[in-house]
Amino acid sequence: MKIAVFEDVKNIKIREIEKPQVGETQVLVKIETCAICTWEQRVYSGVKEVPFPFVGGHELAGEIVEMGHKVDARTLSIGDKVVFGTNLACGQCYQCKTGNEQNCEYFNHSQKLEGTPYRGLGGFAEYILADSKRVFRINNVSSDIATLVEPVSCVVHSVESADLAFGETVMVVGCGIMGLIHVQLALKKGCVVVAVDQKQERLDLAKEFGAHYIVNNSMENLDDVIMRITNEKGVNAIFNTVFVSKLAQELQPLLAINGRQVLYSSFYPDNPMTISPDTLHKRATRIIGTANSNSRDFIRSIALIENNIINLKPFIGRIIDFDNIEEALELSLTQEYYRVVIKM
Ligand SMILES: [Zn+2]
Ligand SMILES: [Zn+2]
Repeated sequence: MKIAVFEDVKNIKIREIEKPQVGETQVLVKIETCAICTWEQRVYSGVKEVPFPFVGGHELAGEIVEMGHKVDARTLSIGDKVVFGTNLACGQCYQCKTGNEQNCEYFNHSQKLEGTPYRGLGGFAEYILADSKRVFRINNVSSDIATLVEPVSCVVHSVESADLAFGETVMVVGCGIMGLIHVQLALKKGCVVVAVDQKQERLDLAKEFGAHYIVNNSMENLDDVIMRITNEKGVNAIFNTVFVSKLAQELQPLLAINGRQVLYSSFYPDNPMTISPDTLHKRATRIIGTANSNSRDFIRSIALIENNIINLKPFIGRIIDFDNIEEALELSLTQEYYRVVIKM
């Protein structure tokens, strides 16, 4: 089978290897599509360091073509359309066993990729071996849209971690694809949504999705606008999808009493931020980290997508053939598209 391998920074090659042999509790998924996430862009551009050679790809959709003999045939069959993230959560540690696979203690994206000579995640290939417990059936969704189950599942996790209540005011900072999915999910939770970005076309899309307020913070003073909208009280929740720690620090005072700021993005570089512990104490505000997703989030994400509860069509910017994966990665770096999807 063909597999795309990051061999160095800005160097990806398609290699030919044996098709993996399915283990007794595994399924072999023939990959149809795999989206390029910011994470893979960072690996490609060298911002995120990984041990080369390395295989990317963790937002994928495909079809089960082989099943190990111990896979439960009540739940999966050959021919099922499935989505899959990664095999990375160990399933055995304290976090995994208590329903927090997204925070697995042994999470390591650089572990050996089963059935291949490489390390990594494995979605940039024609086939992938998946633990049968980590694939999820999906029906009547095109395979390009289905690649977004994984990112949506991460946003489901993020939004639920903020425990939103009807009528709360929510600010989403950064309206890339992840911010715009936050906008949609916060609206579904019955919140007043304020979308913040510096690019007008992204804000226009937020508005189209139903955001109540849009703020271009390159032109308007965000603090003033938020205080005006909220009668000087501040917002109940902030979803921060921007990777700049100074911004996280600046946003914290915009929280109302009992407000929560959710840090969705990873931070590059990871500069420390300063907060006032006494303000945190007195105003009972919180800063919450969130990363990845678990099985429950995947199931919920699939329900949202299968039933058209959220609109993902505007995010599929380009669909590029696997043979042109280098071009696809370069295109994704231009930031011109919300998602570039690779078609096998
Ligand atoms: Zn991703
Ligand atoms: Zn674990």
